[in-house]
Amino acid sequence: MINPNYIKFIEIMNEGVKEGEELSHHTSFKIGGKADLFYSAKDEDSLIKAVKTAKILNIPAVIVGDGSNILVSDKGYRGVVVKNRKTKKKKKKKNNKIIEYSGFQLSEVLKFASEHTLSGLEFAAGIPGSVGGAVYMNAGAFGSSIGELTVKGNVIDKNGNIRELNKKDFEFGYRSSRLRKSDEILISVILKLVKGEKEQILQKMNKIIGIRKGKHPAKNIPCAGSYFKNIVKEDPDITGEPAGYYLEKAGTKKLKAGGAAVFGKHANFIVNMGNAKSSDVLKLAEMMKKKVKEMFGIELVEEVVYLDDKEGFKR
Ligand SMILES: Cc1cc2nc3c(=O)[nH]c(=O)nc-3n(C[C@H](O)[C@H](O)[C@H](O)COP(=O)(O)OP(=O)(O)OC[C@H]3O[C@@H](n4cnc5c(N)ncnc54)[C@H](O)[C@@H]3O)c2cc1C
Repeated sequence: MINPNYIKFIEIMNEGVKEGEELSHHTSFKIGGKADLFYSAKDEDSLIKAVKTAKILNIPAVIVGDGSNILVSDKGYRGVVVKNRKTKKKKKKKNNKIIEYSGFQLSEVLKFASEHTLSGLEFAAGIPGSVGGAVYMNAGAFGSSIGELTVKGNVIDKNGNIRELNKKDFEFGYRSSRLRKSDEILISVILKLVKGEKEQILQKMNKIIGIRKGKHPAKNIPCAGSYFKNIVKEDPDITGEPAGYYLEKAGTKKLKAGGAAVFGKHANFIVNMGNAKSSDVLKLAEMMKKKVKEMFGIELVEEVVYLDDKEGFKR
């Protein structure tokens, strides 16, 4: 019998709630079982309403953006998955600052910035995902990350209240932020860019996209980007090379588990060969970690976030 609180959630949200939605349709890995409830939030108000309603009804809830950095359990999720989608609201620009709703895609923000000749975000060209996911992960490339551009943002806190956070409150680190440790949900963020030349901005973006194409799996090969974080150099015995370096040297490139395999051109990418299960990816990741640990004594840490069916996102 369906949980009575699920029925209430469906009634209160009025429309847009699906039961038993396959989460594999909402992840770049194309992996994941069914969510009990799935709601697409199309703007700030519906995002806030969904999160607060789930809280009041005591229904476990998690938020996903574009699902480009997550591995979802084969058992799906026991609760409501709130997908934060593009809003119809217009983006705003003031004094080289742009206000971004967390449900926009990074690519849209880049387009907006280049159209308004604002520079600073070009490093993110080709990074899939939403603004919310990017801030949560402090997404970055080529030595820059979104945290550096963040001025402040609004979040929904654990109690369902809306709070403003300043840059330092976000506690940005390498592929991490306060959001990765707390249960707060980003609603919007203000990014500070600098005035640039449109041609130069577009040239830089195209160059970066070209470099990425040469290294990353093609669009039709499901993956979730780099599986492990790079090594932060703290120990003098560790060279501090990217995780892919150690994975390659440890001979992981030919490893496979079920439908999951290490990508031939980049050892830090796990790809779904067509029918991979979440359990295959987890098994393969363990095999990769073990080889690196044996050869270098280094413990790789996952960058991809795992969604457990009962416990939610493992932080
Ligand atoms: C081919 C490929 C290349 C990639 N290259 C890069 C790269 O160069 N650099 C890089 O950093 N990443 C890269 N990634 C990873 C990924 O694109 C980024 O981490 C992206 O920012 C994730 O955004 P998302 O919307 O898809 O987040 P999701 O995968 O949907 O979610 C990731 C986490 O963020 C949380 N989250 C999402 N929205 C919110 C919100 N509004 N508030 C609070 N938490 C939220 C989710 O709960 C989840 O825990 C790549 C991925 C792929 C598939």
